Amino acid sequence: MKDRTIKSINWHITAKCNYKCKFCYVQRLDTEILDLNEAFSVLNKLKDSKTDDINIEKINFVGGEPFLHPLFYELLKMAHALGFTTSIVTNGSFINDRNIAEIGKYTDWIGISVDSISNLKEAELARGKGKHVSHAIEVSDLIHEQGIKLKVNTTVTKMTYRENMHQLIHRMNPHRWKAFQMLHIKGQNDNCVKELAITDEEFNDFINRHKHIRLTGGTKPVFESNEDMKGSYLILSPSGKVISNSSGSYQTFEFDDFLNNPESVVDIGKYLGRDGLYDWKK
Ligand code: SF4
Repeated sequence: MKDRTIKSINWHITAKCNYKCKFCYVQRLDTEILDLNEAFSVLNKLKDSKTDDINIEKINFVGGEPFLHPLFYELLKMAHALGFTTSIVTNGSFINDRNIAEIGKYTDWIGISVDSISNLKEAELARGKGKHVSHAIEVSDLIHEQGIKLKVNTTVTKMTYRENMHQLIHRMNPHRWKAFQMLHIKGQNDNCVKELAITDEEFNDFINRHKHIRLTGGTKPVFESNEDMKGSYLILSPSGKVISNSSGSYQTFEFDDFLNNPESVVDIGKYLGRDGLYDWKK
C-alpha cells in the first residue's frame, strides 16, 4: 500500500534576507525564535508528532535567508542530532570554501535558488548584485566536494520563461531540480505580479523545453504550477505556527490544531502528487 504520510516540512525560520527578489513570497512573516530552548521545543514537537498522516523525517530550513538567523547553525545541529534529514534552501551567498565543511557535518541537502542563466537578469530580478549565477556555480562545486546532495530551485517568471537552462543545470549537476511557476501570495509579493507573473501556457513553454533533462541518477526535473503549489506543502512560520497557502494568501494555525485536522492545511494527495516523497537519505 502506498505510504500516504507527510514526512517533510519547510520551516521558514526567518523572513530576513540580504537579497530583495521582486517575486519573493516570503516578505512578511511572524517573529523568529531567538531562544534555543524554544527552538528545541519546536523541533521536539516535530519529532514527537506521529499520527496516521504525519511522521516528519526531513526538515527544510528556509527563509528569507536561513543563514541570517542568529541560531541557524544550532538549529541545524539540533535537527541533525534528533535524527532528521536536514536540508537548507538558500540563495547561496553565505556559503564559501571556509564554512562548507562545517555546514556539511549537519546537512544532507542544500537547495540553491537560481532563476536565470544570466547574472544580469538575476540582478534585474533583484536576486543579488550581478554575480548570482557565477557564485551559485562555485557553490554547487563546493557542495559536491563535501558529498552534500544538491538541489536547484528555479522560479520561472515573465523575464525568464523563454530561457534554455540545460547547460547551466548540467554544469551545476544537481540531484534534484525544481522549477516553479511564479506564485502570487497576496500580502507578500503583490507589487511584482504585473511585471513577472506568467500564464499556464508560458509555464508549459518552459516545461516543454526542459522536461527531457535527466539529472544525476536519471532523476527527472519537477515542475510545479501555481495549482500544484497551493496546499501541497507543510509550512512552518518563524515562530513555529503552521501556514496554509491554499487560499492564495497566508493563514496561520497553531501546530496542535493542525495535528487534529491536517487535511485542512495540506492536501496529502497533492503533497504526494508533486513528488513530495523521494529517497532523501544522504
Ligand atoms: S533570496 Fe529567497 S528569501 Fe531572499 S529575497 Fe530572494 S526569494 Fe526571497
